[in-house]
Amino acid sequence: CGIVGYIGNQQAAPILLDGLSKLEYRGYDSAGMAIYNGETIEMVKSRGRLKVLNELTHAGETLPGMLGIGHTRWATHGSPSDINAHPHFNKAKNIAVVHNGIIENYLKLKKKLEKKGYEFVSETDTEVIAHLLDYYYDGNPLQAVTKIMHRMEGSYALGIIFQDHPEELYAVRKDSPLIVGHTDGGSILASDVPAVLKYTRNVYFIENEEIVRMTADSMEFFTVDEEPVEKESTWIEWDV
Ligand code: GLU
Repeated sequence: CGIVGYIGNQQAAPILLDGLSKLEYRGYDSAGMAIYNGETIEMVKSRGRLKVLNELTHAGETLPGMLGIGHTRWATHGSPSDINAHPHFNKAKNIAVVHNGIIENYLKLKKKLEKKGYEFVSETDTEVIAHLLDYYYDGNPLQAVTKIMHRMEGSYALGIIFQDHPEELYAVRKDSPLIVGHTDGGSILASDVPAVLKYTRNVYFIENEEIVRMTADSMEFFTVDEEPVEKESTWIEWDV
């Protein structure tokens, strides 16, 4: 029920764990992270509290890498379990996704993808997103993201990493909240402001159906037609 993402010059995992801990008030039953370690995307995910994820990764230490996404899950489709915990992954093109919300037409999409030979490992609605991205991905992440937006019904805030684009972190939302901001030497995304306040007070509130492409030192916004959007940031005065 909370997402975070980070790309920059710091180790990602501890920042993700810290951010997720600030979103605990949203409620959750499982937690997980996917980190690009310089060669591949490594995932650790588990049913249970953040404490479990903390212990499994020694507070993030066992997961090196400066690009990653994290998630706390409030199960809507599929029971709370290690396998149903996010991130979800496509092995063919090595794409990892965290998702808040509900993909209303996931069964229809799942059936279509299964007919094309895709194998599902979880019971979640979210897994269709990973495989749908694979289906549309031909080396252009932004285009793949816009294409899946045309196919998905429902609500989503997504954090996405593509192993063959390790300098970039993608995010998009529809009817689920999402904010992004620049940190000192990086970029961060989260479902809500408290998760990023330690790293920045200057945030961008993402509008419905807006896509963000983040690198360690840049942030670009796009419409579903891949047109650039100019956005103003907001200075957050309040504390948590
Ligand atoms: N619908 C997704 C699931 O059940 C995401 C739930 C959430 O927002 O945490 O896995």
